[in-house]
Amino acid sequence: MTVTAEEQFRAWKAKTMPPVEEVRPGVWSIPVPFVGNPMRYTLSYVLIGEDVGGRREVALVDPGWDSDEGWEVLTAGLATAGLTPSSITGIVVTHFHPDHLGMAARLRAASGAWVALGEHEPLPEHWRGDPTQFVVEDRSQFADWGVPDEFLDEVSFQEETWAQMTAVAAPQRRLADGELLPVAGLQVRVLATPGHTPGSICLVDEANGLILTGDHVLPRITPHVSLEAANHADPLRDYLESLGIMGVGADMEVLPAHEYRFRGLMTRVAELRAHTLERSREVVAVLEEGEAGSVWEVSKELTWSRGFDSLRGFMLRLALAETASHLVYLAGQGRDVGILVSRGTPTPATQ
Ligand SMILES: [Zn+2]
Repeated sequence: MTVTAEEQFRAWKAKTMPPVEEVRPGVWSIPVPFVGNPMRYTLSYVLIGEDVGGRREVALVDPGWDSDEGWEVLTAGLATAGLTPSSITGIVVTHFHPDHLGMAARLRAASGAWVALGEHEPLPEHWRGDPTQFVVEDRSQFADWGVPDEFLDEVSFQEETWAQMTAVAAPQRRLADGELLPVAGLQVRVLATPGHTPGSICLVDEANGLILTGDHVLPRITPHVSLEAANHADPLRDYLESLGIMGVGADMEVLPAHEYRFRGLMTRVAELRAHTLERSREVVAVLEEGEAGSVWEVSKELTWSRGFDSLRGFMLRLALAETASHLVYLAGQGRDVGILVSRGTPTPATQ
């Protein structure tokens, strides 16, 4: 892998904010603060299109975490690119996570732009309409996973989580695999890459030799692939398959949603695959010892960077959901895992 953004890389190492940059003519990178998170920023990308008739349309990819500070930084970044929020015609979000989608509602209010997500991304409207029922079902999944009673409150979603998640911008458009972004003057293609979320997408800008990878491929962090409540049959299988289709960007510069730009996508893909399969082997080793009878007990035996006992709250939730994703994957590969992971019948991947 080769870092292609020296200033971004220096800023990332120094734990400061990287600069706004024009990556190619009409392609801008704007780091938006991810408040309170060690990742520190989401890289928003602005894609300016102009058709033969001189009509200009502008897509903004991943407006980032919603905050007043983030809004100021985003609008200042747009100004650097000679734009204002009202220049934006389309807001494209690589996946339904608050550090990507969060500021879409504010940007849509200021611009009137449509918001688009991948066609397979589940939306709050597909969940149970009743927040109480949502909380009950979420909690019962963790109980099924063997989580002791005293941890159930901190790992489960509460009614306010439901309220936060349903308050975000609803998409007016859905983007299918292979489709061109509906933005005049752009030739940017959608690549469906389920795994991190069921509807995660990458964007391929062949003319500029760029691939926007969202959180699917990041230069340093391994994206979280976890079994979340009842919306994703086998996320790890999907993720590995989605790594397998990245050859399209083999020679392109990679524009990830965090950290920094680089080249050498296939090297990074190979690392991510190896890391994931290594983790699965660790889960198999725990199963073979025959002591662990629940998702909780398997998780306790796995290596975690600061130890299992240090994981609390949302981090503990993610850790358990990651373990569950490995168990579902292994079961799908024909292994008898002998542990209750999902009460629903697994459904085929939607891709
Ligand atoms: Zn992210």
